[in-house]
This record gives sequence, structure tokens and C-alpha cells, in this order.
Amino acid sequence: MTEQKIFWGISKDLQAAVRYEPNACRGYVMDISLGCPNLCIYCIFSILEKTVYKFYDTRYKGEIIPLKLDKFLAEEKFPPFVYMCYASDPFGNRQITQSTVAVLDKLLSHDVFVGFVTKGIVDGEVLEVIRKKPNLVGVQVGITNTSDQRNKIVEPGAPSYKKRLENFKRLNEIDNLGFLTVRIDPMLPGIDDTPDNIEKIIHDASSLGAKEAVLGYVILTRDLKEQLKNNELTRASADALTEKTSTISRQELFSVPFAKKVEKLTEFEKICQKYGMKMAVCGCKEEEMKKTSFEWVCHPFNRQRREELAPKTEFHLETAHFG
Ligand code: SF4
Repeated sequence: MTEQKIFWGISKDLQAAVRYEPNACRGYVMDISLGCPNLCIYCIFSILEKTVYKFYDTRYKGEIIPLKLDKFLAEEKFPPFVYMCYASDPFGNRQITQSTVAVLDKLLSHDVFVGFVTKGIVDGEVLEVIRKKPNLVGVQVGITNTSDQRNKIVEPGAPSYKKRLENFKRLNEIDNLGFLTVRIDPMLPGIDDTPDNIEKIIHDASSLGAKEAVLGYVILTRDLKEQLKNNELTRASADALTEKTSTISRQELFSVPFAKKVEKLTEFEKICQKYGMKMAVCGCKEEEMKKTSFEWVCHPFNRQRREELAPKTEFHLETAHFG
């Protein structure tokens, strides 16, 4: 960790690095690739990273590039929590997964807690590394719809529903894992936020070992919202994003009206409770959530340990927004 200052995007030399990211719940993040193989049509962050990188290299055409690890592997100083990934999937393909294994090994050897969010496949050597210090690893598996037909259009590069579910079974077999969560986020209104779809995901994930669900609605830039209108499946969803949302980033972003969201999330919280699962939302993505009765810190690590560690570390751990 050579720099603690905030810097923007993936570095010009394409080296993987832990960086402070104010828009990611004001925490430390790390990407393993420039661009993401899942190609989700609602993705704000990987597009932003690619756009920023085009300023460094005008020949860059938006391809997915695994980042170099030599500088990272020479580092010896890290913050207490690293979130993987910010604008990519740490298990997006085999090559990226191999880099993630090396990164995870290094971070765990320094007792860093690593939080993953992924739609990829977590298996093989990844599980072997996690087993070294499972209490320092938390995984959120991203699933917003059981329909592979929908997923092929909305998340064309991501594994099927069944394959993503299998992650829970494998991870649940690891004793003392930090946390295992299903992330039903971002939901597209009218497509993903139906009680049947949510109940099926909650039922399947909880029966395979997920302990918690994080639910959230899609939040899009004006351009992405317009792009969604070009697709027959997602047109009505785009039309339902009528309200500017109060995110931590202060960007102009559109989503479902807040009152409607609270109404739906209240309904989904009851479904979670029926299956003995805790439900959380992300209060950084939607700051108004901090005024509701929902648990609005979406990472259990952030809930428990960030505040405890803050006074003991020189790294900038922003906790004021949890107050
Ligand atoms: S998995 Fe995440 S980073 Fe990758 S394309 Fe989808 S939303 Fe973007």
C-alpha cells in the first residue's frame, strides 16, 4: 500500500492496488481487472473505470484486462478491510480468479479482512486459501433473478442461477466463515422485485447456507437509464426510475421512488424473516435508508469491526456516516 490518498480509477500502469474509494461506502477497495466479464447492462462502475482509463491510453478499446500484481505482491502494509471488487468481479473468469487467489493469500497473511461480492464461481483453490483464515473472509453472492433467460440479457457474461447458488453450498461447508450473504442487488423494478422471485432466491440461498440477504434497487446514470429503454425486456424498468437518489457519491443517479422502495423492501423483509434470514440494505447507495428501520450497513464487517479498528489504525477509515 504505497498511497493512502484518494485516487481515481485503475492506475495507468495497470497494476492492481488497494485504494481508498469514497464512493464504495468510504472504504478500501481493490480491482483485479480493468473491465468485468459479467457485462451487466446496469453496471455504472466498470464503464466509469474504462472511460477513465481511455484518458491514459487512447488506444484502449474497452477490453477486459487482468491487472498486474507484482507491485501489490511487494507491498507489506494494508488497511484492516479490503473490499473486492469495486468495478469488476474477483471471480469473473479463470485468469482473474487465479490473480484473486494470490491477492487473497497475501491479504490473509497480513490478517486483512477481505469482503467479496461476486456473481462468479467460488471453488477449487479459492476455497483452499479461504480455509487458511476463514474468519477473515466474507462473501456476498450476487443474484437478482432466478430466470436464466433474464440473466442472459441483463448479466450476459455471468454464470447461471444454478451455478451461482452452488457457491453457497461450498462456502457453507467452511467452518467459521466471516459471513455468507445473498446480494439481491440491484433489482430492476417490475422484473426482479416480484415476491415470487425474491422468495425463490431467499428459499434457495438460505437452504444452502446463506445467513443474510442484502436487497437494493438499481441506480443508474441518465445515459444508462436511456440505454435500458432500447431493450424490450428492460424498457418498463427504465421508465420506473423516476426519482433522483441520494447516494453517498452525490452523482445524479436515478432510481425507483423512495416511498415505493420502502414499501417493497418491507414486504421482502418479511420474506427474509420467514426463512430466518436477516435483511440489510445499503445506506451509502441510498442515504435516505439511514432514516428507516432497516439495517442499512450492508457489510457485517463494517457493522462490527470498522469502528473498533478505526482508533487503532493510521488508515483512513471513515465512520462518521455510520453515526
Ligand atoms: S459484476 Fe459488478 S462490476 Fe461486473 S459488470 Fe456486473 S455490476 Fe459491473
